[in-house]
Amino acid sequence: MSDEAEKGEAGKTETAFRRARPCPVCSKLSAERFHPFCSKRCADVDLNRWLSGSYTVPVVEMEPEDFDELERELGKAVKHG
Ligand SMILES: [Zn+2]
Repeated sequence: MSDEAEKGEAGKTETAFRRARPCPVCSKLSAERFHPFCSKRCADVDLNRWLSGSYTVPVVEMEPEDFDELERELGKAVKHG
């Protein structure tokens, strides 16, 4: 797969900043359970941003199959216009 390198880079960065980083969505203290976010809600917000093109670096490790599935789900949910 061509995205292996990208995933590895992101993984390294995630590990380095894991403890000190606040929630990137609302800047609250991140919860280990929802790392790097403070809550499931913020994780969803971020995921939506990422899938809609604002982010280019994945913040979570996902299998390509998962991504396809998510994209389908979001396509259903976000389809408007
Ligand atoms: Zn948050």
